[in-house]
Amino acid sequence: MNNNSWRIENSPITPFFFQNNFYHIKRDDLLNEIFNGNKARKFYYFLQNEFPGIKRVISFGSNQSNAMMSLSELCKIKKWDFIYYTNHIPKYLRQNPEGNYLKALQNGANIIETSLNGEKLIKFVKSLKDEETLIIEEGGRVKESEFGIKKLAEEVNEYALKHNLKIFLPSGTGTTAYFLSKHVNVEVLTVPCVGDENYLKKQFKWLGGGKTPTILKPRKKYHYGKLYPELYYLWDDLKNSGIEFDLLYDPVGWDTVLYHNLKDILYIHQGGVLGNITMLKRYERKLKLK
Ligand SMILES: *Cc1c(COP(=O)(O)O)cnc(C)c1O
Repeated sequence: MNNNSWRIENSPITPFFFQNNFYHIKRDDLLNEIFNGNKARKFYYFLQNEFPGIKRVISFGSNQSNAMMSLSELCKIKKWDFIYYTNHIPKYLRQNPEGNYLKALQNGANIIETSLNGEKLIKFVKSLKDEETLIIEEGGRVKESEFGIKKLAEEVNEYALKHNLKIFLPSGTGTTAYFLSKHVNVEVLTVPCVGDENYLKKQFKWLGGGKTPTILKPRKKYHYGKLYPELYYLWDDLKNSGIEFDLLYDPVGWDTVLYHNLKDILYIHQGGVLGNITMLKRYERKLKLK
């Protein structure tokens, strides 16, 4: 199969004025209309390589995850079936599909609700492995992700050196920050958005240790997926300044940039904007914006 029309690389780096400061933004949200952000980087390995005999991908995770949506794009491009296990599909979402869930369905994903979770679900999914099936773990926390993130590193390294910049990006599993740090010659700064500092340290060790990102403390402990009015207003301010960021990680990311008064940074926009609709609706209800 010829994937040349699917070369996903060289997203632009653009200037961004925000709250009277100047930042450089690596626009990985613009890598491709749909298959973009750090999930595209993580799954680039699967896009660029041939997998003779493979007919399907099986994965699992939450019903609105960016990884699920990106895998559904990958499978569409590769003409593979995509089967995805999730703990819970709310009735409302089933009847009114939206965001990443809708896009995945449109791409032909077979999203299956299961009562299994945690280790039991992982074990079950792994047991489905055969010669025709690739198993891709939740969120793409896989060594294969180094391939595409190294490519991202190559696209920013010279620019960061030339302009004397540090690189900043918010972390979930820390996989993107870790492999980026491994393959650039400048300091990479990150903030934990899912676990805490110790969780990230463990992840970095598990991924291979060595040169690891610097972990910054957030202004306060924000719980992942919880609504914080101040983070919504920060996100809205960013949007009005010209760039829409994701609503789960980036508000914590930018709040950390402001809290530590970071200057001379290259901020990595990791995509995820398609998933904003659900969070946005929750904020609109909570803050009575509509
Ligand atoms: C998945 C994701 C992250 C977290 O990436 P990790 O490699 O798990 O740290 C951050 N931002 C966005 C928009 C994401 O989709």
